[in-house]
Amino acid sequence: GQDLRIARIASAIRVIPNFPKPGIMFQDITTLLLDTKAFKDTIDLFVERYKDKNISVVAGIEARGFIFGPPIALAIGAKFVPMRKPNKLPGEVISEEYSLEYGTDKMEMHVGAVEAGERALVIDDLIATGGTLSAAIRLLERVGVEVVECACVIELPELKGRERLGDKPLFVLVNAA
Ligand code: AMP
Repeated sequence: GQDLRIARIASAIRVIPNFPKPGIMFQDITTLLLDTKAFKDTIDLFVERYKDKNISVVAGIEARGFIFGPPIALAIGAKFVPMRKPNKLPGEVISEEYSLEYGTDKMEMHVGAVEAGERALVIDDLIATGGTLSAAIRLLERVGVEVVECACVIELPELKGRERLGDKPLFVLVNAA
């Protein structure tokens, strides 16, 4: 059943304390990728949820949204659009700033990758404060794309990132402390 799949996914994620700096409990999904059943179950759970939702774009956030996004996009018949860190995309871009704990960062998307009226799923490995996902939502909505839902493998509910997404639905597989 679904709960067994979720339990296996949760136990395949390795937690590394104090990476990349003291106090952070890093949720390492590379160990999930080593467990062929847990990795497949992860993709299957997303595909089951999104296959009949008329989604034409899966927007994946650099870097770990690039791991989970493409297999989902292929399975549901959607295109994959990378949402990248600044100065990585070679073509004309639109960009959106967002705040970090210290300072700001930027997210970029190619102009012409999506059209107004398309329906998007935004995917990343993890939601913490929600700043990253909310920047991706703004970027897509600025060009007239409807963001149907955001999806992550892991949520850190204590950081209340879900609230930062307003009324945008968020689907996650695993809650972590
Ligand atoms: P946020 O914008 O605060 O929601 O942070 C989410 C982004 O930072 C995602 O792209 C995550 O991959 C990364 N991230 C934040 N906290 C963690 C953590 N504890 N473990 C792994 N990745 C994290």
